[in-house]
Amino acid sequence: MGTGPMPTLFVSHGAPTMAVGEGPGALQMRRAGTTLPRPTAILMVSAHWIAPAPTFATAPRPATLHDFRGFPRSLYELSYPAPGAPEVARLGADLLEAHGIASALDPERGFDHGVWSPLMLLYPGADIPVVCLSLAASLDPARHLAMGRALAPLRERGVMIVASGGATHNLGEVDPAGGTPPDWAVAFDRWLAERLEAGDVDGLVDWERSAPHAMTAHPTPEHFVPLLVAVGAAGDSFAAQRLVDAFEWGSLSLAAWRFEEPTMYP
Ligand code: ZN
Repeated sequence: MGTGPMPTLFVSHGAPTMAVGEGPGALQMRRAGTTLPRPTAILMVSAHWIAPAPTFATAPRPATLHDFRGFPRSLYELSYPAPGAPEVARLGADLLEAHGIASALDPERGFDHGVWSPLMLLYPGADIPVVCLSLAASLDPARHLAMGRALAPLRERGVMIVASGGATHNLGEVDPAGGTPPDWAVAFDRWLAERLEAGDVDGLVDWERSAPHAMTAHPTPEHFVPLLVAVGAAGDSFAAQRLVDAFEWGSLSLAAWRFEEPTMYP
């Protein structure tokens, strides 16, 4: 179990094919998984679940959702049979309420591909309970930072908070044949790295104005906003460690990051 609070993560889940991929992003993510502590449970915030209010999934045996079209049949046969963690869901709802944030519970919701695709790479055993938390429909960065701050005490209980989105995500600007990442994607990914390494939370909250090519990198904000939950839960000052440094489909950054108290590693 280790000592001290669990780190938090932001992962780019890429295309659903990443779960069974052999590209640099998938390989780096698998390798990162071997360096992570084993949490008592995982709280997963995915770009692919947006609800009016932040909503916790409470199913004890969540289904694997195949929420995509046009991919090889084998992807629709994948499942991630980790149990749910209803007690962690209720704890999370209590923590949000204590900070004046109303939330909801959903007894039906399963694992979307933003949940299971990175978890297959990080924790392939599927034997750690997973509770999903939705984004709030406002997609407001400051509100999601506040959600993360409210949920931070879960880390003391061995819960790893994992935010799953994309460091860049513009499906109109992808090239499935691959190729060199365009300048705007590299610039945005680099800006993100610099802000995270500087611990510049205000800059991250203000990303739509302060990041280069923000609207090209994210025509809609839902793949960026999960990051704010992971950063908020990491504490007032945090160290950021890059876990994945790769692109796929040209412009799609697969960047993944680990956050924790700066004293936890030299
Ligand atoms: Zn996605």
